[in-house]
Amino acid sequence: MPVSGLGAYDPDNVFARILRGEIPSRTVLDTEHALAFHDIAPHAPHHVLVIPKGAYVSWADFAARATDAEIAGFVRAVGQVAQQLGLEEAGYRLLSNMGAHAGQEVPHFHVHLFGGRPLGPMLT
Ligand code: C5P
Repeated sequence: MPVSGLGAYDPDNVFARILRGEIPSRTVLDTEHALAFHDIAPHAPHHVLVIPKGAYVSWADFAARATDAEIAGFVRAVGQVAQQLGLEEAGYRLLSNMGAHAGQEVPHFHVHLFGGRPLGPMLT
């Protein structure tokens, strides 16, 4: 599904390769529908990426094509990661870059979870 200049899903994108175990990552959570791992270039004390196991280019692609079970499994995994990292009381930030204008670099849908310090105002 071509969206926002991302083109069709590339099965060799870096997160697809992480899912296949071809590239190492530091796993935080591994469920039926989602994998969470530490970002290699963290912007906060906790910076985790949560990705669905299915082949979705972006947030828009995921929202349009994922099954209800995949969506529920993914959303719950994000919540579980925050809980596991002990971030629920202090709070945290979720962000997903979608397409060219947002600067999405990896064409496999992912949510960034940031926490562990006051994050300041949201930047646009
Ligand atoms: O949202 P965006 O696509 O720009 O973010 C991609 C993220 O994936 C970056 O924060 C980058 O540090 C991370 N990354 C990673 N492991 C890789 C390649 C990229 O954690 N092997």
